[in-house]
Order: sequence, then C-alpha cells, then structure tokens
Amino acid sequence: MVNIVLFGPPGAGKGTQSEHIIQKYGLKHISTGDLFRKHLGEGTQLGKEARSYMDNGKLVPDEVVIGMVDETINEHKEAPGFIFDGFPRTVAQAEALDKLLADHKTGIACMIELDVPQEELKKRLLERGKTSGRADDQNEEKINVRIGEYLTKTVPVAKFYAGQDKNCKINGVGSVEGIFGDIVKAMDTHY
Ligand code: ADP
Repeated sequence: MVNIVLFGPPGAGKGTQSEHIIQKYGLKHISTGDLFRKHLGEGTQLGKEARSYMDNGKLVPDEVVIGMVDETINEHKEAPGFIFDGFPRTVAQAEALDKLLADHKTGIACMIELDVPQEELKKRLLERGKTSGRADDQNEEKINVRIGEYLTKTVPVAKFYAGQDKNCKINGVGSVEGIFGDIVKAMDTHY
C-alpha cells in the first residue's frame, strides 16, 4: 500500500491534481471536504454536526473528522493505497492518521504540498464560487476565515511530516499538466 497526503491551502488545486493522481496510480481518493458535503446533502447526523463549522469556514472538530476517515479506510481495505486530500488539517489529525494506518500495517509514504501565494488563492476561490455552488467560496470574509484556519492550525502539519522526512513542496502556480508533472517526479521517488 502506498498512501499519499496532498497538502495545501484552500484553492491550491488539491482536488484537480487528485483526479490526475488517481488516474495514474489507481489510489482511492479520500477528500474530507467531499465526504462532509455528501453527508450534508444526505442530511445525516454527521452532516448536521459539520454544517455550522463548514458554513463559517471553521474546521470541523478533530474527533468528528477522524471517525469519518477511520470508517472510510475500513470500507476500502482492498484499495492499493489512499490519497488523502484536505486531511490531515491539524497535528492531532496527522497523529491519528498514523495510528489508523499502523493498524492496517501501513503508513504515509509522502506528503505533497502545493505552494500557492495568498492573493492567488483568494482569486481562485472567488472564481470557483461563481460556478461551484459552494457558499464558502462566495464570500470574501469566509475565505479569509478559511485561510486563517489554514495558517494557524494546518501549517504545523507540514512540520509534522518534515519531522518524518516525508514532505515535498511543489510550486502550485502554473499549468495543471506542468504541476502534475512535478507531482509525478516527487511520487516516483517513493514508489
Ligand atoms: P477547501 O480546501 O477548499 O477549503 P474542503 O472541501 O477541503 O475545502 O473543505 C471544506 C470545509 O470542510 C472546511 O472549510 C471545513 O469546515 C471542513 N473540513 C474538511 N476537511 C476537514 C478536516 N480535515 N478537518 C476539519 N474540517 C474539515
């Protein structure tokens, strides 16, 4: 099993690059944002718990996210590996993920970080908001809250993986194909 963390701020292009990575490597995609939106759409208890946090651009509490990821990993034990997108977003989540994967006798091979300047992120999110139907993409104040959450709670996750010598930073500005080419080079050193 080869498991990858795709890391970066909101609007860095994680979803777009995930699609390319899945196609090439056949990994199972676990996007906590997509999973929450599915729960929200289906009106589940978990969706109800997550809604107010998501609507305000805040992170959903760790125990809720970790439980959901645990369940998803268990549902896909046959997968050749996972690509985690939008998770882990706190150091507590990163520690929990190591434990969950250790229970399955596996671990994280590498963390790929997409590096994009803040001004570019805001531009991309507002642009996405015009078509995505996501309320959290349509309001500059909410975007600022999300970027703030990223800077205070998520940036330390990069240090966590650097401490394990697993981080790889990639320039996230440029053509989708060019960025994907750089990701492939980074991933192939871990395969
Ligand atoms: P983006 O990366 O564009 O902000 P996501 O789709 O990954 O969007 O996440 C949308 C929202 O879902 C976040 O703002 C947050 O409220 C919630 N969320 C997603 N993943 C996590 C996570 N790992 N921990 C806490 N909250 C999360």
